[in-house]
Amino acid sequence: MKYQIPKGLFDILPYSKESFKETFRWQYLESVIKKLMGDYNFEEIRVPIFEKTDLFLRGVGEITDIASKELYTFLDKAKRSMSLRPEGTASVMRAFIENNLSQEKKLHKLYYTGPMFRYDRPQKGRYRQHHQLGIEVIGEKSFEIDAEVIDMLITLFKRLEIKHFKLLINSIGDFETRTNYKKALLDFLKPNFENLSEESQARFDKNPMRILDSKDERDKKILKEVPSILDFLSSSAKKHFENLLNLLDKLDIKYEVDSKLVRGLDYYDDTVFEIISEKTGAQNSLGGGGRYNSLLKSLGGPDLPGIGFACGLERILQTMIEEDVYFPKKKGPFIYIIPIGEDAKEYAIILAKDLRHHKISVDIDLNAKKIQKSLSLADKLNAKNALILADNEMNQKVASFKNLEKREQNEIKFEDLKNFIKNKFYKL
Ligand code: AMP
Repeated sequence: MKYQIPKGLFDILPYSKESFKETFRWQYLESVIKKLMGDYNFEEIRVPIFEKTDLFLRGVGEITDIASKELYTFLDKAKRSMSLRPEGTASVMRAFIENNLSQEKKLHKLYYTGPMFRYDRPQKGRYRQHHQLGIEVIGEKSFEIDAEVIDMLITLFKRLEIKHFKLLINSIGDFETRTNYKKALLDFLKPNFENLSEESQARFDKNPMRILDSKDERDKKILKEVPSILDFLSSSAKKHFENLLNLLDKLDIKYEVDSKLVRGLDYYDDTVFEIISEKTGAQNSLGGGGRYNSLLKSLGGPDLPGIGFACGLERILQTMIEEDVYFPKKKGPFIYIIPIGEDAKEYAIILAKDLRHHKISVDIDLNAKKIQKSLSLADKLNAKNALILADNEMNQKVASFKNLEKREQNEIKFEDLKNFIKNKFYKL
């Protein structure tokens, strides 16, 4: 074939052999997300798909993998460096600052969904274009907000009926905490430097805390005895974390404290958390986030704290499919009209126009030849009813109305047809 989709991308289709690529599943997930956001009073923000490269380098941190290796960068016609967004937070912060949203009110609860781009080695659960739901709460530093955000994320998974997931949580404290901890961490790692993976050796000077995140077995072995950051929390960071865990207990939210959880990005303070699937393989992170108290300021904005998370919609869908959760059936037309012959076809087109005018969903089999064949097509489309207009019906001016779910059939005179259908539809 001449044209093929670039590596690491995929189409979302009305029909696909791979369930997670089917449009109706995405629409269901998106509808659950939308409802949830309304229930927690979050407002939608839509930011562009590309930005000036600098924003991502500053926002995501020049020493993270996303910024250093995975950015999709290009020069525009004026030779300015632009990048497709690898995540949403940097753009949301840019938009927040540029549009002076802090003037509007004190607390901002924002969410976004959409594609993100990372030049990564594609594999199951890892794509070059993937989709995220992200939220950012700006303007409050309290542990109650952290709990609300975590509760919302857990509620999303519960509403989707995902059962096999785990919430990991940690505190990486404030600046003072991390300065003290980094010293202890480097002291601990120094004698083992030669045995660390190359990646961790490279991180040793630039960003040692990310070594804790390493998936390399050599590193994991060394890290077994690593000092815990929780022993270094400043008193205010400690209080924040204890209060948060207490509140999560009261909200009946199960968690596992993981003192090695630092998350990939640079800008977090205090609370960090991650949701992992216990079913999917290597790419088991469904979502995660944390508190960032200095990000807005570091990007030139007001000195306001924030907390956010992002989760990957592909991985959520894959987990739902693996757990065999319920998806509502794809919705088909309310009526599938099967006209046999030219007169019937014309009648069907005029009837369809009228019904659609009344917001009733209608489809017509314009190629109908054999009733049975068209009826199986109607089933495939998940149509609720079929309306048969064959020779017999046209001669007698009586249509056969078939309820495809109950398998009941009624004969309706043409003159009563519209009212009969409207009655059925609006009684639903
Ligand atoms: P991150 O910004 O790296 O924390 O990503 C947030 C979430 O997006 C992760 O927990 C994953 O669920 C998802 N994700 C990240 N990168 C990819 C990718 N390349 N392909 C699919 N999903 C991804």
